Amino acid sequence: MKYAKIDLHLHLDGSLYLPWAWETAKKRGVVAPDYTFDEYYHFMHRTEFKSREERMTRFDFPIAVLQTKEDLAAGIYHLIETLAEKDMYYAEIRFAPQQHMLQGLTQTEVVEAVLEGRAQAKKDFPGVETGIINCMMHKGADAHTNWEANLETIRVTKEFLGKGVVALDLAGFENNGDFSLYGPLFEIAKEQGLPYTIHAGEMGDGSHIPLAISWGASRIGHGIDSVRNPEWLKEVVEKQIPLEVCVTGNTIAMYNRKYCDHPVRKLIEAGVKVTLNTDNMTFSETDLINEYSQMRALGVSMETLKRCAQNSIDAAFCDEETKDRLRKKMGFI
Ligand SMILES: [Zn+2]
Repeated sequence: MKYAKIDLHLHLDGSLYLPWAWETAKKRGVVAPDYTFDEYYHFMHRTEFKSREERMTRFDFPIAVLQTKEDLAAGIYHLIETLAEKDMYYAEIRFAPQQHMLQGLTQTEVVEAVLEGRAQAKKDFPGVETGIINCMMHKGADAHTNWEANLETIRVTKEFLGKGVVALDLAGFENNGDFSLYGPLFEIAKEQGLPYTIHAGEMGDGSHIPLAISWGASRIGHGIDSVRNPEWLKEVVEKQIPLEVCVTGNTIAMYNRKYCDHPVRKLIEAGVKVTLNTDNMTFSETDLINEYSQMRALGVSMETLKRCAQNSIDAAFCDEETKDRLRKKMGFI
């Protein structure tokens, strides 16, 4: 699939190279030494969950693996290696630094370790360019549960912006508590001049989408629930806010429905700037080639897929020089 080259929504913890994650989990005591690869494989790829909250707990496992500088660097290295094997051109890899402090690392040290692994991968796999998105976390019913940690993520993003970090995000279970309480964090991010995307409108409350847009989000993570309300959809279309659609991941999130139940075609037909992404390559057993191929199977034309790829380049958090390089590589100019 020639257009499957640019991934803007890719979580490090949900996309670890499984054999490495399994070996590391055994080494670090995250799983028992006799835990087999098959057991680990089935655990990481399970899709049946009693609730959406339970589905979010699957991240606990890879996060437990990524708690030292060495493992953070190796984790991202192997992910970029995987992207290079798939002949990807550009990926924005996101993760939440505050989730990797269980063994005493600071958020600065966490980001430094990830950037170190990225730098090594850049040397070994020069064909794939990457940028890092730091996620703040939506945790608990009260935004103040981890307010300080989120402020620190903003600070660290500012510190490393232009040095491998390209943007800020808000991730986590969006329907847990009052989403609107997170708005002031983006006021601060805006004052600091940080670009940001926001996870909103994947899990059943599309009203978070206009909220995220009002906070100044350059892109929306998922945003698929905008189809539930003509006003929300109108705003996304009129303001041309790119949606980071992850068809496989969203389909699993919608209680394992079928690809054809996904609103992606409605979004495209309505004039939304759709980008196609993987979200969690390991959990969802997918890659960008599969995401584009599933779209073909849904009857989406190659011309439309080309437009999605062009949207991805337009929406990427990289400089214009990089965008032009990508457009040339893709044959768009
Ligand atoms: Zn996501």
